Amino acid sequence: MTKKTIAIVGAGLAGLSCAVRLTELGHHVELFEKSRVPAGRMSTKRGEGWAADHGAQYFTARDPLFIEQVEKWQADHAVALWTPEIKVYEANQWSTFQSQDLRYVGIPAMNSPAKHLAKELVLHASQTIDALSRKDDHWLLHSAETGDIEKGFDALILAIPGPQALTLAQHLDPEIQTIAGQSNMKGCWTLMARFQQQPKVPFEAAFVNQEIISWVARNSSKPQRTGQESWTIQANPLWSQEFIELSKEEVTERMLACAKKLGLDCAAAEISVHRWRYASGATAAALGFYSNPELYLGLCGDWLNGGRVEGAWLSGYHLANKITHRELSS
Ligand SMILES: Cc1cc2nc3c(=O)[nH]c(=O)nc-3n(C[C@H](O)[C@H](O)[C@H](O)COP(=O)(O)OP(=O)(O)OC[C@H]3O[C@@H](n4cnc5c(N)ncnc54)[C@H](O)[C@@H]3O)c2cc1C
Repeated sequence: MTKKTIAIVGAGLAGLSCAVRLTELGHHVELFEKSRVPAGRMSTKRGEGWAADHGAQYFTARDPLFIEQVEKWQADHAVALWTPEIKVYEANQWSTFQSQDLRYVGIPAMNSPAKHLAKELVLHASQTIDALSRKDDHWLLHSAETGDIEKGFDALILAIPGPQALTLAQHLDPEIQTIAGQSNMKGCWTLMARFQQQPKVPFEAAFVNQEIISWVARNSSKPQRTGQESWTIQANPLWSQEFIELSKEEVTERMLACAKKLGLDCAAAEISVHRWRYASGATAAALGFYSNPELYLGLCGDWLNGGRVEGAWLSGYHLANKITHRELSS
């Protein structure tokens, strides 16, 4: 098999799993990530004396390949089980949430599995790729921060949310327009609340099925969390999408009123707000990934594989196998 040089745009879980697998298969991979650190939507927000998982809250593992990966993370102390007391609020009533699911979180923070995957990889951080072109069978990338990336690549993989892939690459391949145009992603307004003392509420996490808030969790109940007592409150996707352009002040006011109604009074808490513009959503048919053999171009990400952390990891992994076995090897 010929060793190829492959650029991956996006160091979320999909881009990272793809990079690790391609490296295992003998290729040279470089990741370009617009943030300072990898993890994407599995991130952790930090402030003075506090931290909160403000994207993915936990993840589950059902596919044997992903279960194997989770076991490795557990053995390397990057992941642990989280067993909160979970309630559900529906039809104006609270009940205990019954489920046999095992819930995993990164330790000491949600971004730990991503950091673990990135350890041995070539990662160019703070590089927003804003233009792509092809010359002499090579992919050329342009960075908003540093201009033209000097090196050309044999293959290019976009591991970014569908709407962003659409903007960046629709002119390169009409199929991308069709697929990414169906990604149907929605935003998520997220509040992070810090308290001097643990609030007195009868749950550590709650699914809320009838209000503008859809999820509340005591970040401090996750394993190995230190610092100030911290909670994460997320608005539901439909409400978030409808009010995605609302000011942070108004969002805070409305979400805190809702939290108070649910019994979590944040009047004395310090609050931060984060807007995820593309938080969740997926194409109706789970394609897994997309690859174009003629162009040596691939797409991966949760949105191509049912959404969620497990879907993202599997999407990257399977694209790596496909692109190397069928197309790049010669
Ligand atoms: C609020 C919220 C709650 C969630 N809760 C859960 C949950 O409880 N359980 C669960 O399983 N999943 C949850 N998810 C979904 C989960 O986080 C995602 O499925 C998963 O992290 C997606 O990984 P990804 O690699 O596909 O995409 P991302 O994590 O979005 O990675 C894409 C990366 O590409 C980078 N990027 C984008 N454009 C460019 C560019 N032009 N140049 C360079 N870099 C670029 C981004 O910065 C990002 O790092 C949640 C997500 C959010 C936002």
